[in-house]
Amino acid sequence: MNKEEKELKRLREAQLFRSLLSIESSQSTTVMLEGKEVLLFCSNNYLGLANHPKLKKAAAAAIETWGVGTGASRLISGNLALFRQVEEKLADLKGTESALVFNSGYTANIGAIGILAGKGDLILADRLNHASLIDACRLSGATFRVYRHKDMCQLQKLLASRKTGQKALILSDGIFSMDGDIAPLPALLNLAEVYDATVYLDDAHATGVLGMHGGGTADHFQISSKHLIQMGTLSKALGGFGGFIAGNSCLIDTLINKSRPFIYTTALPPSILATALAALEVIEEEPALRKRLWENQRYLSKGLRQLGFDTLESETPILPILIGDSKTAMAFSKALLENGIYVSAIRPPTVPAGSARLRITLMANHTKPQIDRLLEELSTIGHRLQII
Ligand SMILES: *Cc1c(COP(=O)(O)O)cnc(C)c1O
Repeated sequence: MNKEEKELKRLREAQLFRSLLSIESSQSTTVMLEGKEVLLFCSNNYLGLANHPKLKKAAAAAIETWGVGTGASRLISGNLALFRQVEEKLADLKGTESALVFNSGYTANIGAIGILAGKGDLILADRLNHASLIDACRLSGATFRVYRHKDMCQLQKLLASRKTGQKALILSDGIFSMDGDIAPLPALLNLAEVYDATVYLDDAHATGVLGMHGGGTADHFQISSKHLIQMGTLSKALGGFGGFIAGNSCLIDTLINKSRPFIYTTALPPSILATALAALEVIEEEPALRKRLWENQRYLSKGLRQLGFDTLESETPILPILIGDSKTAMAFSKALLENGIYVSAIRPPTVPAGSARLRITLMANHTKPQIDRLLEELSTIGHRLQII
């Protein structure tokens, strides 16, 4: 057996092997999965926009007008006028001077953090931050310290004990992607002001979901600060693809001039930009979608707690069911699938060892009967596996 085969065998034995399942339909509350129709409860398509008629129409029209590709990076000849429209709308949504689209949220994190912190600087990161932030820290070359999840006392100590004059960047998810709780943004910004640091907030799951205008975590807390930089994705609640950074013009110009993941890649295609533009309009014009998402959130979280599941500190449409060992988490997910419900099991290294879980995500267009079905199956299987 070669090295790769040995590693794959180890993953299989530890119930950590990952494989791909084929979706054979559009993204709705139900999908065709490997030839079978199932109820979908693990998509980040929170507002159902991935299949919204207005977005589909905008994408199709953009293909007719602009074609399918951009042919070059944005600094060469790929910078279609659609970018400016999307970026102005994103800056409006985030309440910032400026915004810049990247080819994905992952790329935005790598591209921005590499500019904001380098050798000799200090990055302080929440232990439950998304993997793309961890990769960005590693690639930046900065000194990288992790603080316990949302532990502001530990964060304060780390800030207070840094070398004089050392630049500090605090990194946090806005909504934590696997636990579904919200970052204490006012406290983070307060520390940033006191200790002259910058908060970089990854709002991938909060954009379009949190706040009166769907602006994300800062909108939720109705807070703004010159110490804050916001990152988001166009691929979750916004239903399409791409990522972005929102901040002041000096930051955005620096990224355009220096960020290699921004510079050395072909510009996103026009259909994707038109999709983003339409999504931003829907977010503005249809607050009812967000309202329905949150009604579903309240209904399901109450139901899960009544059944006795441990949903950690979740307060958003990401609702984990803590299980612990990967084997039981896999068995739970498999049993649900056999009963027509698709909820994937999340295992290490995506979550800390011993905290394997089911991760349920809700959409605005899930119906009460669909959620009731989910609760019923969770109850039956949960009892059988002795989780509850
Ligand atoms: C999904 C996600 C990303 C990456 O965004 P993509 O647009 O999918 O590349 C970054 N951060 C967090 C917290 C995410 O959940």
